[in-house]
Amino acid sequence: MGPGPSNVYPEVTSALVRPVIGHLDPSFLTVLDETMERLRQVFKTENSLTLPLSGTGSAGMEAALVNFVEPGDPVVVAVNGLFGERMCEVARRIGAEVVRVEAGWGTPVDPEAVLSAHDSPKVIAVVHAETSTGVRNEIAPLGEGKKDALLVVDTVTSLGGIEVALDEWGVDIAYSGTQKCLGVPPGLSPISVSKRARDQLLPAPTSWYLDLNLLAKYMESKSVAGRVYHHSAPVSMVFALHAGLGVLLDDGLDETWKRHLECGRRLQDGLEALGLRLLADASCRLPQLTTVEVPRTLSSGLDEAECRRVLLDRYDIEIGSGVGPLAGKVWRIGCMGHTARLKNVDALLGALAEVLRR
Ligand code: PLP
Repeated sequence: MGPGPSNVYPEVTSALVRPVIGHLDPSFLTVLDETMERLRQVFKTENSLTLPLSGTGSAGMEAALVNFVEPGDPVVVAVNGLFGERMCEVARRIGAEVVRVEAGWGTPVDPEAVLSAHDSPKVIAVVHAETSTGVRNEIAPLGEGKKDALLVVDTVTSLGGIEVALDEWGVDIAYSGTQKCLGVPPGLSPISVSKRARDQLLPAPTSWYLDLNLLAKYMESKSVAGRVYHHSAPVSMVFALHAGLGVLLDDGLDETWKRHLECGRRLQDGLEALGLRLLADASCRLPQLTTVEVPRTLSSGLDEAECRRVLLDRYDIEIGSGVGPLAGKVWRIGCMGHTARLKNVDALLGALAEVLRR
């Protein structure tokens, strides 16, 4: 069987086949400017330094740390899943003093524990929506209690799917990815930096490619002449992001979050109706990423990987495996961006009932 239905909005597919122009073409600059303005709206921020970084979400993670953290700086990281772990590793490689504040995989991190973990951290880093567990971590209390620390928030799986409000929450640096709730292929990492954080940018971070000082000079100028060449922007991906953000803003942020919530609820209720157990508690459960425990005995005689394989081969539906300590124990079901539609939820629930013979 061929590949299943597209994960991205149809408008994004059309944008991807637009004729490719040069990255110094004035008409590309217009699209880039509009993309940055759309990102500000979606991030809910006035931050001037808001741009699509060339690279996936992990590039955003590196940029968010390497531009602010120097060897020896204390960095408090909330860890309750794979991506909190990744933040620790990035900070460790920079030479930071990493202070881990852990919670179990499937449980949110306690904001008080994060805030009291160090007297004066340079950075407090947290993942808003942990894709490895389906858990939402609270951000606003961290913004309230951060004191002089810079608050770095990973919004890779949250942006566009649930509320993200950088200015209201006191977030200093946020990064995201295009391939989740924005409904665009992977390839760019939107990043936004507050004025307060911008004033603390390291003048020469160890990564040249992710140096936000250089990127700002390249992307922020309103004129071709004012742009200082840094790298060749991936023009088609910027077109795609511009289109995806356009869909989101035309539909409205509130409406889009509501669509994700309705799909998440329908999916989670349906899974429970099939007798399956959800990993995350309802109080912190993401609508766009559901983690469901694999039943101990699968009546169909298939193992968990075979169930996923049948879903893909027979029904064109891809669900994820568990990772880290949850490998083999859970399935992770994304319902994000263009794919967050009730008909997709119903198709999955029907297919799963057949595969599990329930
Ligand atoms: N952070 C979170 C929460 C993610 O879910 C992911 C990827 O799934 C990343 C970071 C890394 O993003 P990428 O795979 O686009 O590099």
